[in-house]
Amino acid sequence: MDSLLDFEECIKDSPEFRLTLDQFEADVSSLETHLDKVMKLCGKMVEAGQAYNSANKLFLSSLAELLSYQKKETVVMSCLNQFQQGLQEMLSFHTMLLDQTQRAIVQQLSSLCSQFLPQLVDTRKEFVRIGEDLETAAAKNAQVSRHKAADAERASHLLLATRKCYQHFALDYCLQLNTFKTQQKMDVLNSVFSFVHAQFTFFHQGFDLLRDLEPSMKTLGAQLSQLSADCATKRKELENRHLLVQQRDASGEPMVNSCPSNGAVIQGYLFKRSRRKSKTWKRCWFTIRDHQLIYKKSHKEDAAVLFEDLRLCAVKPADHMDRRFCFELLSVQKCCVLQADSEQLKQAWLSALQGSIDLAYRERSDAQLTQPKDPPPVLSAGDASPGPPSQRPAVLAVALGGPGNQRCCDCGQEEPRWASVNLGVTVCIECSGIHRSLGVHLSKIRSLTLDSWEAEQLKLLCVLGNDVVNGIYEARCSEEGRVKPGSDSPR
Ligand SMILES: [Zn+2]
Repeated sequence: MDSLLDFEECIKDSPEFRLTLDQFEADVSSLETHLDKVMKLCGKMVEAGQAYNSANKLFLSSLAELLSYQKKETVVMSCLNQFQQGLQEMLSFHTMLLDQTQRAIVQQLSSLCSQFLPQLVDTRKEFVRIGEDLETAAAKNAQVSRHKAADAERASHLLLATRKCYQHFALDYCLQLNTFKTQQKMDVLNSVFSFVHAQFTFFHQGFDLLRDLEPSMKTLGAQLSQLSADCATKRKELENRHLLVQQRDASGEPMVNSCPSNGAVIQGYLFKRSRRKSKTWKRCWFTIRDHQLIYKKSHKEDAAVLFEDLRLCAVKPADHMDRRFCFELLSVQKCCVLQADSEQLKQAWLSALQGSIDLAYRERSDAQLTQPKDPPPVLSAGDASPGPPSQRPAVLAVALGGPGNQRCCDCGQEEPRWASVNLGVTVCIECSGIHRSLGVHLSKIRSLTLDSWEAEQLKLLCVLGNDVVNGIYEARCSEEGRVKPGSDSPR
């Protein structure tokens, strides 16, 4: 048991009491210093903890963002979700721990200080003042002359009253000091106990939480070892493929890309000469797909169609160019010069383009042959080959068998006897003159009754024909408000 101030000694106001009192006051003052220090440091610790919690919160949300990029595998995702929830809960435990620490130390101890210390200070002031009064009264009482009876009596009374008052205050002060000493002991112990209890709760909750997470941790651990095996396999496979491609293709030689997977016949880089006056060359990515030649100026731009229908084009090497490996594509509307990186690539592109054109014809003729109505009388090369005049009507009959070929392509005049070899249409004599005046680079006119025809040329007339070609060339006429001339229109 701690020593307390003795009330009996207090009444006596003995030197022993004074010494003990001094000791007591020194203890209270040093206790106050320590209390202040503990509360201040606890406040700092809680502040740092709150900063940690804020950082932890930010960290957890960034972790959640990172994990959201993971492949959405249900097993892994459910584990990750549980971890995420667990970590969030840990964070709330931390917040609780800080709250309780704050309450246990700072609030409890500061209430101890605020409740007792100010009162102690006040009481001590009174005690000191009355002590001084007592000294004065004792001195006066000692100095009074024995011959002044009234004065002596007054001095004696004053001394008695002051001593009574002093004893009253001294006892009160002692009581307060004793009470503080007893109370602080309990409060400090209580405070430490609460703090330790808060720590206990925190770790206990954490332990329970992590124990609940254990199955998920095991599951994810198993997934991880599986993943690590898969990853090693995948890396090996990638290395092998890398090696294979390096050995096979990465020789620096340009490749002809044939990609049946995306429907392209051929793909690759070609230089394209600008059709503007500048005639600059630009390297673009070209693709032949669905009988169209399309290209991209850069990976950010959409593909543009250079030639809408390769069936209406001709392709040939452009050896007159200053540059090497050039070839040109011609249609009625435009002519475009392209350049490959090598002779090999140029040949690949030429044959792919030609093949695409031929394929278009084959598909068309197949489609027509399967149509039961109005099949062309003859389509085989043998029947339509150039021959003696006796076979000429056969040419005419074959030519007029194409869809829409019985009337002039341009004016609708019946029984056309002329045709454009490159466009694959039949025309009347009047319109054939107009075609001729355009020049052979646009339309090459031949007579269906007088000239000789090659099988391929005749085939073109059948598989294309006036309907198909007009469908393409005149597709926007009504839209643009153009009026198609009739057979009686002036030239
Ligand atoms: Zn005509």
